[in-house]
Amino acid sequence: IQIHTTSKEYPVILGAEALTALAPFLKEHLSNVTKIMIITDSNVGDRYLNQVKHQLGEYEVVTHLVPNGEKAKTFDVFYDCLTAALQEKLDRKSLFIALGGGAIGDLCGFVAASFMRGVPFIQLPTTILAHDSAVGGKVAINHPLGKNMIGAFYQPEAVIYDIDFLQSLPAMERRSGFAEVMKHALINDLHFYQWLLTDIDNLQTITTEQLQECLSKGIKVKESVVSKDEKELGIRAFLNFGHTLGHAIEAEAGYGSITHGEAVVIGMVFALRLSKKLLHLQFEQQEFLEWLHKLGYSTKVPSGLYEEKLIDRMKQDKKTIGQVIQFVLLEEVGKPVLYKIDENVLLEELKQFMK
Ligand code: NAD
Ligand code: ZN
Repeated sequence: IQIHTTSKEYPVILGAEALTALAPFLKEHLSNVTKIMIITDSNVGDRYLNQVKHQLGEYEVVTHLVPNGEKAKTFDVFYDCLTAALQEKLDRKSLFIALGGGAIGDLCGFVAASFMRGVPFIQLPTTILAHDSAVGGKVAINHPLGKNMIGAFYQPEAVIYDIDFLQSLPAMERRSGFAEVMKHALINDLHFYQWLLTDIDNLQTITTEQLQECLSKGIKVKESVVSKDEKELGIRAFLNFGHTLGHAIEAEAGYGSITHGEAVVIGMVFALRLSKKLLHLQFEQQEFLEWLHKLGYSTKVPSGLYEEKLIDRMKQDKKTIGQVIQFVLLEEVGKPVLYKIDENVLLEELKQFMK
């Protein structure tokens, strides 16, 4: 799949054994690369680092291990990566490789964007979620005052997505990533959504072919959006479907207590309810809920969270302008719109949803 953005064009090479495309890609497109630094975490590194290094046999490769998951996206870890790169004498012709999920990709991409004002990097995604995060060039770390608050738009040279790496993905990480597949279907393509609904009924036993189809379709939706709006001046905001409430739930529940995608699913359920009520969306909500339950998702806001606090969080959302909260709603499946919503209406709807 070719990704077209204003700043760069690059391929996503997706499939079983896609990793074998890495060395040939380097030979063809980055022939003068001096040194390579792989950034990974131990969950992924313990399993796949040797395989990746094996592919890079003829290059000078160093590895920098960072904490697992969201703990990788801190300023300290970012700084340590830069220190390691300087100590290892990487230069402008060096390459960073992100081997891991979205956290590793976001961190490594930002390191690559910052090191010597920008050196190339390649994404080797290892989660389902990363079909979303590895494509489109948003890279970032977190600040204690807000997630993804320090970052850049910086596109990789390539995304090499070996589906075999997904086999070891735990159930909750599968659910987290698959939520973004659903999101891509709901905002863009009724047939894709209907196919998911009828064909996917178990994320543990999903076949490689099905997974490949889900990821490929999801990536194409993301491509179609970011190719028109790389820097989120307009329609890229549609990719936030389910995220307004989803992010608020994540932040209120505490990162780590619920995965990103599991929170986004609850956000999508709520956004669909609002869409039915406010925009008369035709949608079989009950069928959707039953499917989600079958796949192991919770569709309710976790207990112990308060409506008012969630609304305060939503006011910090990047789509909020002058304190007015905006939701991505659907007029139809595949037809998203940005909708400004009155705070009192939102509070009432949220109260009913959380009953
Ligand atoms: P992650 O990188 O934190 O991975 C989740 C967990 O799974 C980690 O503990 C990791 O070590 C483990 N893991 C990864 N691959 C594995 C494998 N193959 N087998 C076993 N364990 C594995 O998270 P993620 O869910 O992939 O991504 C979440 C991050 O992505 C968030 O920080 C979010 O902000 C970011 N994100 C970015 C964008 C973007 O456009 N840049 C979009 C969506 C999300
Ligand atoms: Zn997301």
